[in-house]
Amino acid sequence: MRIEGLSKSFGHVHALADVDLDIPHGRFICLLGPSGCGKTTLLRLIAGLETPTKGRILLDGVDITRVPAHKRDFGMVFQSLALFPHLSVGENVAYGLRVRGVDRARRRQRAEELLALVRLPGVLDRPVAQLSGGQRQRVAIARALALAPKLFLLDEPLSALDAKLREAMQVELRLLQQRLGISTIVVTHDQREAMTMADIVVVMDHGRVQQVGAPLAIYREPANAFVAGFIGLSNLLQGTLAEDGVRIDGHAVRVARLPPGLVPGAAVTLSVRPEEAHLRPFGEPGPNRLPAEVAFVRDLGASVEVTARCGEAELLVVMAPRERPSDLALGGRVMVELPAEACVVLAA
Ligand code: ATP
Repeated sequence: MRIEGLSKSFGHVHALADVDLDIPHGRFICLLGPSGCGKTTLLRLIAGLETPTKGRILLDGVDITRVPAHKRDFGMVFQSLALFPHLSVGENVAYGLRVRGVDRARRRQRAEELLALVRLPGVLDRPVAQLSGGQRQRVAIARALALAPKLFLLDEPLSALDAKLREAMQVELRLLQQRLGISTIVVTHDQREAMTMADIVVVMDHGRVQQVGAPLAIYREPANAFVAGFIGLSNLLQGTLAEDGVRIDGHAVRVARLPPGLVPGAAVTLSVRPEEAHLRPFGEPGPNRLPAEVAFVRDLGASVEVTARCGEAELLVVMAPRERPSDLALGGRVMVELPAEACVVLAA
């Protein structure tokens, strides 16, 4: 699927602005961004539930922008699930088959197969109302898959589940998608969820696509400060570009890669992941070390998180408990090392 220059306005609200996107076949795509960034609008445009103000949607080279939702052959799962409460599980799953005139025996058989696929066997004749939240989720997924859709679209499908079930369902959904090889697009505001499931993450903000890429690529090479801050935690430091690095508060920080298109003197933001930064003894010489004062220590058991104040900036350093300096104390002075390879320079 190819999306070209897609825009959608609701009155004065520009929900989506000039989105270009290639959605490769058989992949799991997550549309990720904060509330109001336009991800649901993009999904609804893809589904045919909204008409774009501008732009086109192409499926296998054919323009489907004006094709109504029910003729697109896509399966959808909404946050609300939209199950029919008065129908049994089997009738819910086979609903689309009935509309298509598939006979009763065949419908039952197909519903049973689909329920087995989503690991919910033996509930065919149960009322939907008797199922738990996680089970209903599976019924909605089975129903959406019943017509072997070309594209599987899900809008925050797991947000109503408690944290534990939600994590389990993320893994299940990913494994199901891989088994079926079905092109899938999921809307989520949860970066961990996106990182768990997606082949490709589309990070959105303010109606625009900020970055598209594999989860790790986006984590390691965020395109801008918004992505760096939204995907995982990042230390963001304001500085000025120099010949071989960045100057921050009078300190020189060498970087392994300089961004193309920026000239020395330009205002930049330096992004360093907390697990890539290190604490060193105060005064110990070495490259890329900034003097700082310990502002807070979180001993979390599995990890230690130290917040250190460096001039105006607060730096977060995350380490394994065995790497924790024994003399770490609030107000104590330390050096924070930002290894050159871990420094990502972004246009400010
Ligand atoms: P959320 O996670 O909160 O659902 P989202 O990223 O999915 O957010 P959208 O629902 O796509 O965001 O909304 C994008 C913008 O468009 C928001 O400012 C929203 O208020 C506005 N919007 C969406 N649908 C409509 C509508 N039918 N009428 C008016 N404004 C709308």
